[in-house]
Amino acid sequence: MINDYLKNKYLRYLNIKKTLKDMDALNERLIREKEIRQEFFANASHELKTPITSIRGYAELLESGMITDEATRKDMISRIKKEADHMNMLIADILEVSKLESNDIRPEVMRVDVTLLIDETIETFKPKADEAGVTLYNYAKPGVFVYADYGHMDEIISNLVSNAIRYNRKNGKVWIHAANEDGLMELRVRDTGIGIPKGECSRIFERFYRVDKGRSRQSGGTGLGLSIVKHILSYYKGTVEVNSKVGSGTEFIVRIPEKYEP
Ligand code: ADP
Repeated sequence: MINDYLKNKYLRYLNIKKTLKDMDALNERLIREKEIRQEFFANASHELKTPITSIRGYAELLESGMITDEATRKDMISRIKKEADHMNMLIADILEVSKLESNDIRPEVMRVDVTLLIDETIETFKPKADEAGVTLYNYAKPGVFVYADYGHMDEIISNLVSNAIRYNRKNGKVWIHAANEDGLMELRVRDTGIGIPKGECSRIFERFYRVDKGRSRQSGGTGLGLSIVKHILSYYKGTVEVNSKVGSGTEFIVRIPEKYEP
């Protein structure tokens, strides 16, 4: 009798101990998530301040009447526009990150024709590629597919292709491959660009992490593209791999299960 009583009491004690441990772990996770959110907003505000400071500086110069030369005035106005465009892209990416973070994802899963999507992406990025002197090639087999949200797949391919142009060289090339294999859709985006130092290959997926901040900003980068790609991939239980050689080029390999399983 007493034995049973003690045994029950001991089991209750073990249960309470486990609950307390779980609560501690949950608390720690919440604190860490709060820190990550705070860090993100601090970085985002800092990133937004840069174009605002530039716009203000140019506006003040124009207002002062010191710039009398018409060509310089026009140049400043086009810089203001470029900074405003950069702010727009930053805001769009910040909103995308916070949407993905809040798990406010309601994907409309459909059969996405990846080969056609690559054609459309090439069409969209052609002006940008022409300007950079880069040629884009679609090497995907016909009819490559994946079951996913069209917008998500577009976001992944667009981010990788836009980077492959941005970090390329004059007369550079970008090859986009896609295939269905072993239940996976595999997408490869390879470029002849500047490459990424070995030690930085894992860091480029961190929010706002850039190997060359100047080059990224200059060419309209926000530092959020790859973190968005990674986030979307985790949703589809997909992976991304990078192979790169400084001075020769980079290849990103994305693998996503063909069939979506929530
Ligand atoms: P960004 O808007 O700066 O391009 P991303 O998150 O897309 O932000 O990429 C993070 C960083 O990774 C870039 O700033 C760049 O330094 C590096 N990077 C990404 N793609 C490539 C590539 N194809 N070649 C070389 N560097 C790249």
